[in-house]
Amino acid sequence: MTKREKLTELEKEMAADKTLPLATNLVFGEGNIDCVVMFIGEAPGANEDLQKRPFVGRGGKLLDKNIERIGWKREQVYITNIVKRRPPDNRDPLPEEIAAYKPYLTRQIEIIQPKIIATLGRFSMNYFLPEAKISRDHSKIFRLDALRRLIAEGGLGMNGKIIFPIFHPAAALRGTATMKEFEGSFDILKKAAGKADELLIKEPKKYQ
Ligand code: URA
Repeated sequence: MTKREKLTELEKEMAADKTLPLATNLVFGEGNIDCVVMFIGEAPGANEDLQKRPFVGRGGKLLDKNIERIGWKREQVYITNIVKRRPPDNRDPLPEEIAAYKPYLTRQIEIIQPKIIATLGRFSMNYFLPEAKISRDHSKIFRLDALRRLIAEGGLGMNGKIIFPIFHPAAALRGTATMKEFEGSFDILKKAAGKADELLIKEPKKYQ
């Protein structure tokens, strides 16, 4: 099976899985399945639910703007969320919702095999890096094998992959200081993507 076929199969399986929580539309994810960078947000909002596409509202526009500012196109990266249906009233996803969608996200990552996972917001960051704090750890480069515990437990399928936390675009839209940090993350991400192979074999460090 090709990567595309595997992803189509996975999406069908998710759509048919009646045990998954939340009753809204499935927003599976979209983009380049041979990407270097996979962006992972929290959960779809109202616009995403309507269009069945991730990050298409105001936050999505800001994400697109920054992807383009560093010379990339949205189509070049892959974009998805940890929870793939909209929580009511855009509330935070519950731990059991994150857990229910986890096996599917794991398989999605295993199929796509991105070199860098750029997490958007603290929920997505803490999914991979439970101890991390967004204000302290955004724009830092983490190698997943610094978290052997997680690999051993969950088989996340990404031994040696890079996790790069970024503020959530909605947080950036709420404050000038966070916006500056958000934008700065993309400049570092661009450099990191250019050096992804090299970074994969180095110790975790802040990329300067
Ligand atoms: N916020 C998210 O975390 N994901 C989306 O897809 C849209 C808004």
